[in-house]
Amino acid sequence: MPPIPGSGLAKGLAVTLRTMTKRSHTAQYPDAQPELPPRTRGVIGLFEENCTVCMLCARECPDWCIYIDSHKETIPAATPGGRERSRNVLDRFAIDFSLCMYCGICIEVCPFDALFWSPEFEYAETDIHDLTHERDKLREWMWTVPAPPALDPAAEEPKEIAAARKAVEKAEAAAAAAAAAAAAEQAQPTPAEPTPAEPTPGEPTPAEPTPGRATAGQSPQGQATPGRPTPGQAAPGTSGTPSSSESPGTPDTPAGGTA
Ligand code: SF4
Ligand code: SF4
Repeated sequence: MPPIPGSGLAKGLAVTLRTMTKRSHTAQYPDAQPELPPRTRGVIGLFEENCTVCMLCARECPDWCIYIDSHKETIPAATPGGRERSRNVLDRFAIDFSLCMYCGICIEVCPFDALFWSPEFEYAETDIHDLTHERDKLREWMWTVPAPPALDPAAEEPKEIAAARKAVEKAEAAAAAAAAAAAAEQAQPTPAEPTPAEPTPGEPTPAEPTPGRATAGQSPQGQATPGRPTPGQAAPGTSGTPSSSESPGTPDTPAGGTA
């Protein structure tokens, strides 16, 4: 059956109308950044503080595209008589991304968590030789690595965090003990100055007259005074003093009056 004239045009217009009403899936890159999954294998970031130059990553890389140079440094003994130690110092860490096949073996085998996947992907170059990136660039990419997912709340506390927490608690306890000792030392009194010896209670002071020992003719101030007559006794110096009794407090006075 011969085709109807104009049917092709109608089909084309139908497709055009259908697609015009659909939502576009085109990513407007570079005007809009794509939303990438967090575990995207964009590029490899290096956290060089963790790298001990063990060379495991370079040995395990199937493409031999990791280049590492280092030298040894001697660390003096920490204590007198101790042993000197040596450590590897990283001089060069580079990855040739023109050879890398993004297998992730280097990241998996690194025992010190020095390599990470970053979702960064904007490092195209016009010259293939420029795709070998050195440690400074790898370190820059390290800061684009997304944070790891949160730990399971029911999981056991990682031993690194437990050790760090114990160290902080120990340091805080030591600081508190030192502060308490310093406060106790300040609260103690200063050595007392020598004070004049106090008389023993009940023992008369040499300069003071003994209470009760009255002497005739002494001034009444602070000294013994004639005893108070008891009822029935006459006051000293008065007539009618009983001959059989002496005035209290005047032992030397003859009975019956003054001499
Ligand atoms: S991702 Fe694979 S190929 Fe790339 S550097 Fe690491 S080990 Fe080598
Ligand atoms: S495996 Fe890790 S620690 Fe060892 S050299 Fe490679 S990045 Fe450094």
